[in-house]
Amino acid sequence: MDNNHKNNVQAPEPDCHHKQAGTGLDHPENDAQYTGLQVNAGIVQPPSVNPYLKRHKRPQLTANDYVEGILAGNTTVLGQAVTLVESLNPDHQQVAQEVIEKCLPYAGHSKRIGITGVPGAGKSTSIDVFGMHVLERGGKLAVLAIDPSSERTKGSILGDKTRMERLAVHPRAFIRPSPSAGSLGGVARKTRETIVLCEAAGYDTVFVETVGVGQSETAVHSMVDFFLLIQLAGTGDELQGIKRGIMEMADGIVINKADGDNVERANLAAAQFRNALHLFPLPPSGWSPQVITYSGYYELNIDAVWKMIDDYFAHVEANGYFDTKRRHQERYWMRETIEEQLKAHFYNNQQVQRLLADKQRAVLASRQSSFTAASDVLDFYFKHGF
Ligand code: GDP
Repeated sequence: MDNNHKNNVQAPEPDCHHKQAGTGLDHPENDAQYTGLQVNAGIVQPPSVNPYLKRHKRPQLTANDYVEGILAGNTTVLGQAVTLVESLNPDHQQVAQEVIEKCLPYAGHSKRIGITGVPGAGKSTSIDVFGMHVLERGGKLAVLAIDPSSERTKGSILGDKTRMERLAVHPRAFIRPSPSAGSLGGVARKTRETIVLCEAAGYDTVFVETVGVGQSETAVHSMVDFFLLIQLAGTGDELQGIKRGIMEMADGIVINKADGDNVERANLAAAQFRNALHLFPLPPSGWSPQVITYSGYYELNIDAVWKMIDDYFAHVEANGYFDTKRRHQERYWMRETIEEQLKAHFYNNQQVQRLLADKQRAVLASRQSSFTAASDVLDFYFKHGF
C-alpha cells in the first residue's frame, strides 16, 4: 500500500525548476501564493475494499447470552466476554458488569495461583510445564496475566500464547494476555473480573502471571490463594535483588534452571533463601514458605513443586485461612474499586479539570502553596456535590 502510494507521487517536472536557473525569480517559493504544498495529478486507484463485499456485523450478544455461553464452557463466548470486561466503552462496561454479576454465584471454585519472576526467570517455560502437569490430572486451566506496562498493540509481554506452546493448543487451557496498559489498579481489576468469568466457565485452576519487577506483585497477591516466586541462582547475591516485601508475600520460592552445571548453585541459592525466610515471622496462614529447586526446561522436580502447592491448599483449607484470605481480598477489592471510581469521577469532571489546571499553574509559579491549592480544588468539588 505504502509503496503504491509512493509510486503515485510524481516528481516535479525538472523543467519548471531549471527554466530560469540563476535568476531565482521564478522559483516557486518566491510566489506569494506558494503554500509549500504541491499537488500532483495521481492515477485513479481501484477501490481498496471490494464494493461487493457485504459487511457482516457480529450479532450483539445480550448479557444473558454471554452468561449462558460462559456457563456452557464456550471459549469463544468467554473470550468475547473478557474483551467486553477490558473495553473502555461505557456501554460495554455496563453489559460486562451485568455478566460478572450473573457469573458470580458460579465463581470462586478454583485454585488461584500467582506466579512471578523477573524476565528470563523462566515463567513461560515453567507455566507451560506446570500447566501440563495440572491438566494431566484433569480439569481446566486458565492462564491470565497482569502487566501494566504493556499495550496489546505493541505486543503484550505476558500471556502470549506463543510462549506456552503446549498449553496454547490444549483444549482444556484458556490463555489470555494482560489487559492493555492502564493504571495498575485498572489492569488488575480487569484481570480479577476475568477470573470470575473463567471460574464460571469451569476453569478449576487459574494462573495469574506477572513480571517480578515491582508493584504488580501486590495486585496479584491480592487476588490469588498461593503466590509462587520463581528465582534464579547464579550470581551469589540472589537475595539482594529481591525486595523484602515480595519475599514476605511468597508462599513458595522455586529456584529454576537447576540443571546441568547449575544444580550446585541452585542448591546454594535455595539454602540462602531458606535462611532468609527463617528470619521472617510465621505468616498469618500458619504456613512456612518452602524453597524448592527445579528445572522447567528439563522438567525436573516438577512433582515436588506441585506437592508443595497441594500441601499448601490442604493446610489452609483445614485451618480456615483459605476462606479468611478470600474474604479479605473481597474487602480489598471493594475498597480498590471505590477508590478507583472516586478518582475517575473527580478527575473526569471538566470543571475540576479546569480549576486543577489553574491551580497547578499557580503552584508552579509559587503564587499558592500546594496545600491551599489542593483544598481549593477539593472544596470546589465537594461544594458542588457532583
Ligand atoms: P520468562 O521471561 O520469565 O517468561 O522466561 P522464559 O520462560 O522465556 O525463559 C527464558 C530463557 O530461559 C529461555 O531461553 C528458556 O529456554 C530458558 N529456560 C527456562 N527454563 C529453564 C530451565 O529450567 N533450565 C534452563 N537451562 N533454561 C531454562
